[in-house]
Amino acid sequence: MPENTTRDTVILGSGCSGLTAAIYAARSNLKPLVLEGHEPGGQLSITTLVENFPGWPEGIQGPDLIENMKKQAVRFGAELRMAHLASVDLTRHPFELNIGHETIHTRTLIIASGASARWLNLPSEQALIGHGVSSCATCDGFFFSGKEIAVIGGGDSAMEEALFLTRFATKVTLINRTEKFRASKIMLERAMAHPSIKFLSSTTVEEVLGVEEKDVKGLRLRSIASGNEYTLPVSAMFLGIGHIPNAMAFQGMIDLDPDGYILTQRNVFPTLNGKIIPGVFACGDIQDRRYRQAITAAGSGCMAALEVERYLEEHGH
Ligand code: NAP
Repeated sequence: MPENTTRDTVILGSGCSGLTAAIYAARSNLKPLVLEGHEPGGQLSITTLVENFPGWPEGIQGPDLIENMKKQAVRFGAELRMAHLASVDLTRHPFELNIGHETIHTRTLIIASGASARWLNLPSEQALIGHGVSSCATCDGFFFSGKEIAVIGGGDSAMEEALFLTRFATKVTLINRTEKFRASKIMLERAMAHPSIKFLSSTTVEEVLGVEEKDVKGLRLRSIASGNEYTLPVSAMFLGIGHIPNAMAFQGMIDLDPDGYILTQRNVFPTLNGKIIPGVFACGDIQDRRYRQAITAAGSGCMAALEVERYLEEHGH
């Protein structure tokens, strides 16, 4: 392997954590290559106003925040490429990344491929993302102050979103597709006891209304028991039906938890059979199912890049 074609570091993913890692790695003169992945810009690129990222007192549009981070990374020498990982070999050093038409060699790897929100995948839902359809109550709940809102799901995420949204909404309708709730007893009881939360179980969403107006007007629902369809007028629909971690390519090479998230030690060190894998780092939602915030993703991206720097120094690069 010619030394001069081997990268110091490659970053998988161009969301908040990947781009923060890119800024730090670029400023350390490591000329990081960022593979932008299937969802360039990550989850921020599909949100609207971000009001909780420190430093933006008036808020900033999610896509603008991402664009700024990209410019900042490129300004210091990061290279961004529209590509995604087809396969990877972590048993060789340098590591081999196959991106379909090309194999890339790198001394270190930062995995920042995130977790994608799970959607219902209805065409009307997809058309209204950012216009009343959201997968992030913390990000978008505030915009629906004084309105009626629906939350979809029956797990802890849905309960948490519903409870959070009662701060803004006059009424939250929680819609679960079965009679069975996956949520923990305490969360379920808390949501059930809340006077502003109404439960609709064994109910599915057939269509989100408002595509023409580009604004959610209601949901067409179907009762599984009776088969009846009816309209629930709401101004927003929040999905709380889980996330899908983008770590499939690492199955068998890195320890994953039962839901496919990367298990890490000290935040950013992935393991195989419980032992740290030298030169591999993970940051952002791919290893964090608890906080999932832009700022925490950015923080762990910074940590990963600092660990890359330290690793390369220790290995004489
Ligand atoms: P989850 O526990 O897997 O629940 C997902 C929910 O979404 C289930 O009710 C599921 O219904 C429903 N669902 C999935 N696909 C659907 C679809 N296409 N249409 C309609 N409904 C659908 O996911 P989660 O709530 O995100 O929680 C994930 C993990 O994080 C859990 O271990 C949870 O305890 C943890 N968590 C903890 C907290 C906390 O402690 N504060 C907060 C959030 C999450 P079915 O049951 O019918 O499949």
